[in-house]
Amino acid sequence: MSSNIKSPRGMNDLLPPDSAKWLYFENACRTLFERYGYAEVRTPMVESTALFARGIGESTDIVEKEMYTFPDLKGRSLTMRPEMTAGCARSYIQHAVYKRGPITRWFYIGPMFRYERMQTGRYRQFHQVGVEAFGSDSASVDAEQIAMVYALYSQLGVKDLDLYINSVGDAEDRPRYRQALVDFLTPMRDKLCADCQRRLEKNPLRILDCKVPGCIEIVAGAPSVLDALGERSRAQFDAVQSHLSSYGVAFTVDTRIVRGLDYYTGTVFELKSSSGTLGTQSTLVGGGRYDNLVESLGGPPTPGVGFALGIERAVLSLPGEAGDYANKPLAFLAARGDAAREHALALAHRLRLAGLRIEVEHRQVGMKAQFKRADKLGARFVIALGDDELSSGQIKIRDMSQGSETEIALDAVESELKRRAP
Ligand code: AMP
Repeated sequence: MSSNIKSPRGMNDLLPPDSAKWLYFENACRTLFERYGYAEVRTPMVESTALFARGIGESTDIVEKEMYTFPDLKGRSLTMRPEMTAGCARSYIQHAVYKRGPITRWFYIGPMFRYERMQTGRYRQFHQVGVEAFGSDSASVDAEQIAMVYALYSQLGVKDLDLYINSVGDAEDRPRYRQALVDFLTPMRDKLCADCQRRLEKNPLRILDCKVPGCIEIVAGAPSVLDALGERSRAQFDAVQSHLSSYGVAFTVDTRIVRGLDYYTGTVFELKSSSGTLGTQSTLVGGGRYDNLVESLGGPPTPGVGFALGIERAVLSLPGEAGDYANKPLAFLAARGDAAREHALALAHRLRLAGLRIEVEHRQVGMKAQFKRADKLGARFVIALGDDELSSGQIKIRDMSQGSETEIALDAVESELKRRAP
């Protein structure tokens, strides 16, 4: 093997101690989402290409230029999933999950793949946690999901959170708004960036969230999507806002939030953090309602709402260093001499089986090196074992933060450590 094979561009290894921060975040998601009745679902990382073309939309950036698509050995076109809502909807239909109950609440955690230009917070293999609720068109579900994910970040200490919400209207409002936007933008077509000139025909709503300064200027005067909402969408959007207020969640209505995927109907939202670490990739969470997705993929008419968040960006936004999130050993067993080491190894095994996080020295090194290692690992206690301790049956537990020592019987180690464990 060549010595310099690297991971593919934009696809990163996750090593300890960074993995500790990831796990902590993932566990926080699982714990919180389960409290709201969401259960974990796992779907394949690869799906038929047609699923994304139909589900996400042919003229979206993702489907047009960001998918990892390849033929399998029989020539079927497969795609590494760029997101998971389409896969969840496919699975929901395939297993007729709608027959099991009126509402289905799922969450997922896993890698997604998009061939994107890389920057901090933007990768080609990245990881999302997301939730989907199928079966309810109630605005209270939209608001509950938003309040839940807002609470996730604020409880974890993420600063400067800003929630932006909008409505992109239902199947009747969308064409009306699309036409109003095209009528407004067409006379200024030449001033739009090359991408937006293309979008004008294929996906004009996307022009609203273009980041090119010239386009931002033009769009500032564009008609508002909210003016195009029909009665039903208007009432739905008002209800989302009043539910959010009763949950105590502050938000800003921003009519430029349209989200890049075609399946959204009604509520869309983004949660951002303006704290420094994220750079330009400040969107932590994106989501919204997709009341036509299940039907468009061949299922029964089923409303749905969900969001996805990026774990890489979440971890960048969390306070503290990765090491702060790692579990430290409760005790380090240091040994002097072969007999004591043998005893220490067996004792460590026993204590671990009893549920304690224990480190033990496998190398034949002196006491000083062992204490140094215990300190580096952040062990709270060190227990030193030598011939004297083995023959007297008494050992000393050293509290590393206080520098104090307590003498106890060797066979009371387990109960003593359990008593002192946090
Ligand atoms: P989306 O599926 O595009 O709505 O994205 C939802 C969330 O996933 C974003 O707010 C980001 O936190 C995250 N995300 C999307 N694309 C990437 C990427 N290429 N790299 C890292 N995170 C991403």
